[in-house]
Amino acid sequence: MKITSVHAVYPKYKHTVPSWRTHLWQIVVKIETDTGQVGWGYGGGGKAAVEVVNGHFAEILTGKSFDSVSDIGDIWDFLYAESIPYGRKGVAIMALSGVDLALYDALGKAENKPVALLLSDSPKQHMRCYATGPDTDYYADLGFTAQKFPFRWTGEESIDEGVRLAEKARSVFGPKAEVMFDVYMSWDSVITLRMHEALKHVGIHWYEDILTPDDLMELGELRPKIQPVNMAGGEHEFSTHGFADIARAGAYDIWQPDITWCGGITAGSRIVDMAKVAGVEVVPHRGAETWGLHLVAASDCEDFAEILPGVRGGAKDDLWIGEPEVIDGHIDISDKPGFGVKPNEDLL
Ligand SMILES: [Mg+2]
Repeated sequence: MKITSVHAVYPKYKHTVPSWRTHLWQIVVKIETDTGQVGWGYGGGGKAAVEVVNGHFAEILTGKSFDSVSDIGDIWDFLYAESIPYGRKGVAIMALSGVDLALYDALGKAENKPVALLLSDSPKQHMRCYATGPDTDYYADLGFTAQKFPFRWTGEESIDEGVRLAEKARSVFGPKAEVMFDVYMSWDSVITLRMHEALKHVGIHWYEDILTPDDLMELGELRPKIQPVNMAGGEHEFSTHGFADIARAGAYDIWQPDITWCGGITAGSRIVDMAKVAGVEVVPHRGAETWGLHLVAASDCEDFAEILPGVRGGAKDDLWIGEPEVIDGHIDISDKPGFGVKPNEDLL
């Protein structure tokens, strides 16, 4: 089938700060084909990425044909090469992610298969989720047995606070629970070793995003010093080129590409293949959202999918209609074609 139109929009979010650079800054990409398929994709990069899609990719994609996973891979390589002068990482690859996912959605619809079945004959159906957020009691009530705390260093008091949060999660969820900390690049090596010492008795599954992605060598040196706790990261890295640097530095035990940022399913699948060679695990960032979930289901990613349930009583924008729900801390992949979702038109 031939691409007849490509268009990106930045949704009218109500429950996030109205800026293109808010935390998730997600864009919606729509691709139409001459066979009547409409593919929806989800990318990052805010209004700048909308410009990349509408101002550049749309022009060079219109008229191109794709009928297989390998055709989508060729289109990915073409867009990557065309955007090298201003791209390679960041906004351009976040835009490319949205296009790649829209192509996968259209191909799934054309073949009447969920994306996971385009990638594997026997995808996982039922996957364990972990909750990212602060509300331990709420997540326990929802049936989760794993929690990741967003936790930034604010000074000496952070040590006691971290211990308090971790001990509470351990006592609420029990001995088989997984407890993780995402420190969003707010620690350094000295703080990491101090926190590691203070939290040893609780048993932490991973520390995430300890340093920035520019400090891969230092992360690689720190990693063996906190074993058996895992070092996790990669949500700010892009494509196989970026993950090759992570592999060379031995920076992480657990790679966390964001499928709507790192280059879509095409880049995500290639990154999972690289991880196997490097002997590390892959737990995609926001892996329980439908875009990452199909890769988790259809690849060697860990059976561990991230969801952000918010806090009890909190309001959220429901941008995608048809996303599978987390029940008892687990999620099932949808059997609808493509990614199985359509956007809430009120937000477009
Ligand atoms: Mg994170």
